[in-house]
Amino acid sequence: MCLPRFKHKPGRFERTERRKRQAPRPRPRPRPHQPRPRQCLLKGCERWFRPRRASERYCSPKCRQEARKWSQWKAQQKYRKTLAGREKRKGQSQRYRERVRNRSQAAPEESPPGGARVITGKIFDHSCDRPGCYAGFERQPRSPAQRFCSHACRRAMERVWQRERRWRLAMQQQWKR
Ligand SMILES: [Zn+2]
Ligand SMILES: [Zn+2]
Repeated sequence: MCLPRFKHKPGRFERTERRKRQAPRPRPRPRPHQPRPRQCLLKGCERWFRPRRASERYCSPKCRQEARKWSQWKAQQKYRKTLAGREKRKGQSQRYRERVRNRSQAAPEESPPGGARVITGKIFDHSCDRPGCYAGFERQPRSPAQRFCSHACRRAMERVWQRERRWRLAMQQQWKR
């Protein structure tokens, strides 16, 4: 062991070492962001791909198109829901008016408060918010703000939001400099 000999002049040893390490490598300038490989967000694809831009969510034009189709479907669902809601409300108030009218004349009509429940078959009240996922679900009282059909869908979306938030922050930092 010859190392202990250096212990007598540690200052010099450290100084040369530090200079050596610093001199040839100046602090790297921030390069244009190079996105790392990521998974396609579309449900059913989830392929790993290397994005060309930081904002890319899908692996291919095909998946992008599928996602667009899905969001059109989603908008339609939303429209149908508001339409159904309006019809239901209209029906409710109509029934109420009828009930009031009947009550003044004859025996009160027995009906559950809030009007009869309209059972709409296999149409769910809510559908998953993950692009490409057409799964529907009913919101449970325990999770009244549920937006995704499954844990997997929620995680996939959260990962994307997190990444995009980080990316936006990085961009802001760059503009400030
Ligand atoms: Zn894909
Ligand atoms: Zn889903």
